[in-house]
Amino acid sequence: MIDDPPANAIETDNLRKTYAGGVVALKGVSLAVPRGSFFGLLGPNGAGKSTLINILAGLAVKSGGTARIWGHDIDRQERRARAAIGVVPQEINIDPFFSPFELLELQAGFYGVPRRRRRTGAILEAMGLADKAGAYTRTLSGGMKRRLLVAKALVHDPPVLILDEPTAGVDIDLRQQLWDYVRHLNDQGITIVLTTHYLEEAEALCDRIAIIDHGDIIAEDTTHGLVGRLDNKTLTLVLDRDLDAVPGTLTPYNAELRDPRHLVVRYRPSETAIGTILEAANGAGLTIADLTTEEADLEDIFLQLTRASGAP
Ligand code: ADP
Repeated sequence: MIDDPPANAIETDNLRKTYAGGVVALKGVSLAVPRGSFFGLLGPNGAGKSTLINILAGLAVKSGGTARIWGHDIDRQERRARAAIGVVPQEINIDPFFSPFELLELQAGFYGVPRRRRRTGAILEAMGLADKAGAYTRTLSGGMKRRLLVAKALVHDPPVLILDEPTAGVDIDLRQQLWDYVRHLNDQGITIVLTTHYLEEAEALCDRIAIIDHGDIIAEDTTHGLVGRLDNKTLTLVLDRDLDAVPGTLTPYNAELRDPRHLVVRYRPSETAIGTILEAANGAGLTIADLTTEEADLEDIFLQLTRASGAP
């Protein structure tokens, strides 16, 4: 019998972790990662991201609460829960004397994947490592090793893939390649959980984002919803002649002259329509040669939220 797929790929309820030395790393994290989503887990250093991932991966023991992966409780259905996720670790921890092919076969054996169901060749191909299948892993470049780690996390065909800062220190071309592939996996229905400190990357890739700070989830929303929370926009007017002061009609709009030709207006779209500002500019007799608007981005909201959550 095939189980119905769960609505949430991962669910945690009041998950807590206190390390032996007394550090409280997770204070009661309740999180739902919808099946099929590309989910970002963001937070400053020491926020608890790795602890959370390690608990889900079975590498750290929780102090309290519950967690389910693909509907399987990590305590009561440990084997099923583990079989449902693949984790791409932050550190490159590959035995340098095995070839990529051997490494994936070993990993498949470790997960009890029968030989006839192994897809070692196909996975190496998909990760662009087919021509390195028999090479010593120590001869691979850093980017290739990263891709090998992704390959290793996929050998048992998990429906959920967790990537822990997979592009830290990876150059921009390889990052792009890796993301193309991870996007492709997501398109095929694999749920992706990504931790990264490249906020631009998270904004571009993730459809939902949770922000964790000091062991607490301080925001969780669609990427769009999260960015939309900052009700700020910046309008820059490029003028066709020099000004030496902000015209009177624009002073109520918090305008300032960046230089004699650029007038910058920061406004709240919920309170002020852009048309009103443009009318005020017209009213002052300004001729607008060009204009740009800029929205707040994830970086802005991240800084605002993590600052607001205060001291430990
Ligand atoms: P992040 O991945 O967001 O940087 P971590 O989960 O690594 O955060 O760390 C959360 C907190 O737990 C930090 O204060 C960290 O110092 C502490 N911590 C992490 N691992 C251990 C450990 N093995 N023993 C004791 N404290 C730890």
